[in-house]
Amino acid sequence: MAVPNNFPHFLDWMEGADQILVFSKQGDKVREEIQNSDLVFCLDFNEPGRLGEMQKVLEAIDVTMILVDHHPNPECKADLIFSDQEVSSTAELIYQLIEGLGDVELIDTLIATCLYVGMMTDTGCFSFNSSRPRTFEIVEELLLRGIDKDRTFSLVYDNYSEDRMRLLGYSLEKKMVILPEHRTAYISLTSDELKRFNHAKGDTEGFVNYPFSVSNIRISALFIEREDHIKISFRSKGDFPINSFAANFFHGGGHKNAAGGESYESLAVTVKKFENLIGQFSDEINHIQ
Ligand code: 5GP
Repeated sequence: MAVPNNFPHFLDWMEGADQILVFSKQGDKVREEIQNSDLVFCLDFNEPGRLGEMQKVLEAIDVTMILVDHHPNPECKADLIFSDQEVSSTAELIYQLIEGLGDVELIDTLIATCLYVGMMTDTGCFSFNSSRPRTFEIVEELLLRGIDKDRTFSLVYDNYSEDRMRLLGYSLEKKMVILPEHRTAYISLTSDELKRFNHAKGDTEGFVNYPFSVSNIRISALFIEREDHIKISFRSKGDFPINSFAANFFHGGGHKNAAGGESYESLAVTVKKFENLIGQFSDEINHIQ
């Protein structure tokens, strides 16, 4: 298992997490492992660019590749593509793949827990992207395989560092901007602010969802100032395709209601651009149910 960058610390407890290779830190090892592979599974991305520098390693080898993903319009070159954007998560697709191979009996409690974490985190604890009965049938199967649902929730969500919790409080009290006339809210954080709260990878994960607790909000965005760009998370409710918005204006993409993008302008300019664009789409946003 190799990932382009560090994954958030709240997943460190998971079985096997210590064996995952991180390309930004162990590039040579990842290159060697991929070059020695007979078969490569590409999981949970629809554009090769999402791999960053790791993309070059995959492009340089001649190996059978299988893409398993639930984003719209997969653009990756692969020999086999299992793609279904109706499915809650790539973890759910992996379950179906194992099932399709006739190997469901091999899913033990550890595997079931990993699959459950994927489904739980990709659906905001089953609050979106999870209205298909099949999703809950699979959860039933995972429960029958012995997962401890409540403990798993707690391990993922009840382990904020004090700094992360205070950064959340600060973001909501001081940095959340609400544009009631456009049913939109956003939070922007400078790199100095992140430093002040000893920011660690993953600390702002999920912050973009909090503004939806304010009644009537239909669009939410989170702007994070990184070293050489602004990383943006977008969320929408209902029919507004925030992935097209991210792709058209912020070099990004994703799902209809959950997307991300980047900006190479300053944080202030990026936020202003967002506000102006939201103003242009105001009519559409105001008609979201
Ligand atoms: P998040 O806001 O949680 O980082 O990402 C939400 C969704 O948007 C995920 O499905 C992710 O794959 C997608 N996404 C995030 N950032 C980008 C980006 O820069 N480009 C594209 N194409 N998709 C992104």
